[in-house]
Amino acid sequence: MPAYDFRCNNCEQEFTLTYKSVASYAKSTPQCSNCQSDDLSRIIRKVNVASVNRDYTRMDATEMLNVFESGDSKQVGKMFDQIGGTNPALGAEYHEATKRLMSGESMDKVESSLQKKRDANDKKSTPKSD
Ligand SMILES: [Zn+2]
Repeated sequence: MPAYDFRCNNCEQEFTLTYKSVASYAKSTPQCSNCQSDDLSRIIRKVNVASVNRDYTRMDATEMLNVFESGDSKQVGKMFDQIGGTNPALGAEYHEATKRLMSGESMDKVESSLQKKRDANDKKSTPKSD
């Protein structure tokens, strides 16, 4: 089960909430367990990059999310590579993103340039209605 750490901006309390799934977290409005405020900040725990040779294929959803949200593109690329590196069904985009992340490009940059490509493809494949 994914667990999320929060800090309450009202009373400074830190606490962890667990959810059945990432989707149920997305639908929820987390509240402080102490003062019921919903003015919360997510605490992103930095993944220790020094612990090399992680087996990403054995990570649970929370660990993966932590890697993702650490903003460490090289590590995210490595995780992508281990999880989907040999799966051609994931498509060229996945593999391009993996390669670029592993070379140290920022996640924002990779994501926005892939998005631009996607938009361009959408335009190409959409027949003109007028
Ligand atoms: Zn609080």
